[in-house]
Amino acid sequence: MRRLPIFFLLDVSESMVGEKLAKLEEGLSLVVRELRSDPHALETVYLSVVAFAGAARTVTQLTELGEFNAPELPLGGGTALGRALDHLMREMDRTVARSTPDRKGDWQPLVFLMTDGKPTDDPGQAILRWNAGWGRKASMVAISIGADADLAALVRLTGNVLAFESAQAADITKVVKWISQSIQSRSRSVGTEGPPPMEGITDAGMRRVSLAKDGEVPAPKVDDRHAVIIGQCATRKLPYLMKFDRGAHDIGIRDHELGQLFHADRYMLADVYPLRKSFFEMSGPDGGTPTIDANLLVGSPPCPHCVAKIGFAICSCGGAHCIEGPGERTCPWCGKLGSYAIAQADDEITVNRGKG
Ligand SMILES: [Zn+2]
Ligand SMILES: [Zn+2]
Repeated sequence: MRRLPIFFLLDVSESMVGEKLAKLEEGLSLVVRELRSDPHALETVYLSVVAFAGAARTVTQLTELGEFNAPELPLGGGTALGRALDHLMREMDRTVARSTPDRKGDWQPLVFLMTDGKPTDDPGQAILRWNAGWGRKASMVAISIGADADLAALVRLTGNVLAFESAQAADITKVVKWISQSIQSRSRSVGTEGPPPMEGITDAGMRRVSLAKDGEVPAPKVDDRHAVIIGQCATRKLPYLMKFDRGAHDIGIRDHELGQLFHADRYMLADVYPLRKSFFEMSGPDGGTPTIDANLLVGSPPCPHCVAKIGFAICSCGGAHCIEGPGERTCPWCGKLGSYAIAQADDEITVNRGKG
């Protein structure tokens, strides 16, 4: 039996935290349920899930539909699209059966790439490798979610870029339904080359994007409507994410070197989410994290992992962690003992800022 390999390449950067990630997980279960009720799909479809943030990881190896269980998705910092493509190509080299003179290989693979951010690495070389290799032998549909996704990079990757501008978690289900329908229709017409039929994309709330193919890939930027700070529980050594939204009112900040006051928008604490340990691994090795002045961030949540009331203490190493109250505490990031006062010091402090 020739297989129809389907790869999901899913952006699990920190901007997906909370409801969006949950909807994506639910969506995968939905795809599997719908496909299983389709005898054509049941006969041919094999599914694989690759997740990427600052690093990429195969979450589920290519598995036949009947055996596939929708996985729990990890979360990480960053959106390393180049690294994700390299990982996907290795995975496809390893698992997709090619035709030989005496044996038919798998049907043309389908890849669904979903991303909601701008690449935090330079994906240029990986895009060239994809276009010269698997890009000719597989079909990719790239779906950008939300208004911040980098369409220029996606358009260089595939002629099938669908933009889904609503960032509402509930709407992700529509997109997922469309994916499931297009897999079903492909499983009924295996052997056809090219992208899956694009019917119903408008009903799913998406539009097709075409941009000049020679468009430059813009430099990675940080979405500055939110600031995301990764804290680490000093007791349990587990990460958590603090999300701050840019507020309407600005704040006066004194620059000590220049001795002048300048104005900047303030970010108010919006939410805190506990993260699993795998966050560190999924964030990859990238240094040079963009930073934000901690003075702009207002509010401190309690630690979501332990009883500490203050989740936003900042060590001199720049790492954020939890603390029970004023006094001494060992920083879980650098291991140094520091003495903390509750009032925010007037010195300029910067903390590592998430990029995804
Ligand atoms: Zn804690
Ligand atoms: Zn430290």
